[in-house]
Amino acid sequence: MQELTHWINGQHVKGSSGRMADIYNPATGEVQAKVPLATADELRAAVAKAAEAQKAWGATNPQRRARVMMKFGQLINEHMDELAELVSREHGKTLPDGRGDVQRGLEVVEVCMGGPSLLKGEFTDNGGPGIDLYSMRQPLGVVAGITPFNFPAMIPLWKMAPALTCGNAMILKPSERCPSTSLRLAELLKEAGLPDGVLQVVNGDKEVVDAILDDETVQAVGFVGSTPIAQYIYGRAANNGKRAQCFGGAKNHMIIMPDADMDKAADALVGAGFGAAGERCMAISVAVPVGEETANALRERLIPRVENLKVGPYTAGDDVDYGPVITSAAKERIEGLVNKGVEEGADLAVDGRNFKLQGYENGFFVGPSYFDHVSPDMTIYKEEIFGPVLCQVRAASYDEALKITMDNEYGNGTAIFTADGDTARDFAHRVNVGMVGINFPIPVPLSYHTFGGWKKSAFGDLNQYGPDAFRFYTKTKTVTARWFSGIKDGGEFNFKAMD
Ligand code: NAD
Repeated sequence: MQELTHWINGQHVKGSSGRMADIYNPATGEVQAKVPLATADELRAAVAKAAEAQKAWGATNPQRRARVMMKFGQLINEHMDELAELVSREHGKTLPDGRGDVQRGLEVVEVCMGGPSLLKGEFTDNGGPGIDLYSMRQPLGVVAGITPFNFPAMIPLWKMAPALTCGNAMILKPSERCPSTSLRLAELLKEAGLPDGVLQVVNGDKEVVDAILDDETVQAVGFVGSTPIAQYIYGRAANNGKRAQCFGGAKNHMIIMPDADMDKAADALVGAGFGAAGERCMAISVAVPVGEETANALRERLIPRVENLKVGPYTAGDDVDYGPVITSAAKERIEGLVNKGVEEGADLAVDGRNFKLQGYENGFFVGPSYFDHVSPDMTIYKEEIFGPVLCQVRAASYDEALKITMDNEYGNGTAIFTADGDTARDFAHRVNVGMVGINFPIPVPLSYHTFGGWKKSAFGDLNQYGPDAFRFYTKTKTVTARWFSGIKDGGEFNFKAMD
């Protein structure tokens, strides 16, 4: 049984708490490794070392820090297959999806290679008589990243790359379900030239998270996870005077207009609804066709596509559309919600319950389910299912579809499929959701834009990656400078005392 470690001061360090969490192979249900759960004392020691290491790192010129990111990017590329396998082994997603997980993180590292441009300050020449103003961006000191299980490479990279490029030291607390990728990325960062102690990976659960939130040295917390935890972390961090940006759950709607290409819309829905077993914060979990004809046409196309989805372990290669969910508890919760949907009167057009995969009977596989005639008062509509379940809510008009989307408490992503530019434009302008796709089902913005939801999908200020991350991980200092007239008014030739 592999026993994982923490990563402290550039080395693997065994946990000393005596507490461990099991890491499962989600395809077989077997425990494949154990991860130590740190105590508050272990966290405080890691923070103290990080604070020491940050002094020199923060004083290193930005271009040298960016060069570490250049080398890091090169190493991620060289180790792409290994990292993707590490992601899939603990998470269960397919290998191409694992590669995507690494790739979308790598793209943020690529933007950080040009970090000095984003760290430049501002200057006002002659803001008053003989007065200039300039502002500079300085690192915060020690910051923390707390990340979820569903993107074991991408989200830790979204946290660490901008934070470190800005000159901070980071305490990274990855998900205890999938910590190995973060540990491997820390090794690669050391190889890339990051000084020891600047990135500390501290594994753990609530105990260590609370210690981070209460630690006076930690200046900022970047969190990604479920909404109740995001809200809790935001409140406790802010109460302790820290900067916090906490990204939460989602219920992403896709509106399908009568003029949309129905085949393309159905293809987009199966990919965005069931890819990664629906365990994506940008998954489409609600289809909102406009008009009965559109709903029927979509249903007709979705049923065979959903029924034909291939579910299996990542080791089965290209023959698999999606893998198992993360734990047996997640499987039970998802299947419980499908039962609830049936009880509450939704029309289960494809039933994924009682799915069994030969040879993997103990794996956490969940068959794909597709509900039609779902209404907004049902539990399956209100809760984030985070599994391979697509709900269809029928709307009579565009305005009703827009209202349904806007009334939902989450606001991470949304999409519209239509052939009409005017409708698409109206939707993008009016909808109260942070990321919008037009004929594009999973609109995760590119790394030089920025990622963030609205409403209960995000608490705090500023988005992840892109220019916003450089604002979040730095504080601004503004200098007003006046130099009194001196030597330029004329040379002095007399030998004078310095009075
Ligand atoms: P989670 O909230 O259970 O865990 C996230 C992190 O918080 C983990 O590191 C975990 O150890 C820690 N944590 C869990 N319970 C805690 C507690 N009581 N106190 C303190 N810390 C705690 O989330 P998850 O199940 O790992 O991830 C799935 C969720 O993340 C989904 O809701 C998904 O929508 C969301 N998510 C959101 C985004 C986004 O950008 N908005 C991206 C990815 C995932």
